[in-house]
Amino acid sequence: MTKVIVFVDHKNGVIKKVTAETLSVGKNIAGQSQITAVVLGPGAKGAASCLTKYGIDRAIVFESEYLTNPASLNAAKPLIAIIKREQPDVVLFPHTAAIKELLAAVSANLEVSPTVDSVAIENIDGRLICRRQIYAGKVVESLTSNQTLKIVSIRPNIFPVIERDSEIKVEEFSFLLGATDIITTIRQVSGEGKTRPDLMEAKIIVAGGRGMGCAENFAILEQLADVLGAAVGASRSVVDAEWQPQCIQIGQTGKTVAPDLYIACGISGAIQHIAGIYSSKIIVAINNDPDAPIFKIADYGIVGDVREVVPAIIQEIKKIKLSSLS
Ligand SMILES: Cc1cc2nc3c(=O)[nH]c(=O)nc-3n(C[C@H](O)[C@H](O)[C@H](O)COP(=O)(O)OP(=O)(O)OC[C@H]3O[C@@H](n4cnc5c(N)ncnc54)[C@H](O)[C@@H]3O)c2cc1C
Repeated sequence: MTKVIVFVDHKNGVIKKVTAETLSVGKNIAGQSQITAVVLGPGAKGAASCLTKYGIDRAIVFESEYLTNPASLNAAKPLIAIIKREQPDVVLFPHTAAIKELLAAVSANLEVSPTVDSVAIENIDGRLICRRQIYAGKVVESLTSNQTLKIVSIRPNIFPVIERDSEIKVEEFSFLLGATDIITTIRQVSGEGKTRPDLMEAKIIVAGGRGMGCAENFAILEQLADVLGAAVGASRSVVDAEWQPQCIQIGQTGKTVAPDLYIACGISGAIQHIAGIYSSKIIVAINNDPDAPIFKIADYGIVGDVREVVPAIIQEIKKIKLSSLS
């Protein structure tokens, strides 16, 4: 019997894809045992009612005027109280940038050494074995914990979402969260209001590397993303050069993505970058160096200057779109 709690990351009641993945992992670990989703913050009740398609039959919800972001440090106190009351064997979190802080605070408070960023999890007779990549994905380590409570986070875009119907019982958690419990305040969310798809959930990603030459040249990638309805990503070199913000960095120290189509423009294909894109279905690389390592993993390669190739692709897509209208 493995009693599992899954922390639900959502935005105003809309469940994120990585949460669906985490719920599916939780369901597999729990088997026939109880799995409980914990949904906090604004829209928690709405989010809980959507969990039936992931086979979840019990949810604990907590809403408070003080808890405006469920993935913030402010959620630590009610979450710890729920874990203490429920006494689960395993608490699963999605491994996202926002949740890392919350996971660390909860783990420290409960004196648990967490296993973060797992890419495979097995439950062998109650013994949880988590696998995670180290050394930029060159080595996979297997970890098992002998602590009574295991706290594990799972890497986004690795595990499949398994849908199965259930009926859900939603319980409201009673907890006194006051103004003095609020330790972080979000003043501004950059990128909010943009029409681009979320990088982590995008079906098409256009990503630029140092080969783009300068920040201004990213305008052509934006145009390509516009005609494709894609998200824009970047390599770390681009972020380090301050051409693009860190929130769109892809790779080992950035985001792990899994689009249907990944177009790498002026990206060499360093192992740390590949670590974030290997779940992509089709990779197209544009690079002026025919020996660039990215071509080894690309499904399609174009040897050429991004500043010429990308505008040519945009023109072709526009032509195809126009001809399909006439
Ligand atoms: C601990 C650690 C973590 C890291 N984490 C990450 C990470 O998360 N993500 C990440 O991306 N990197 C990461 N890196 C950095 C990584 O090792 C590489 O340095 C980085 O990915 C290189 O970025 P790039 O491909 O944009 O640049 P470069 O390696 O400089 O490649 C630029 C490419 O552009 C091509 N090019 C140049 N001009 C043109 C042109 N006009 N047209 C077409 N092609 C052109 C070149 O041929 C070259 O292949 C990490 C490194 C370390 C040590």
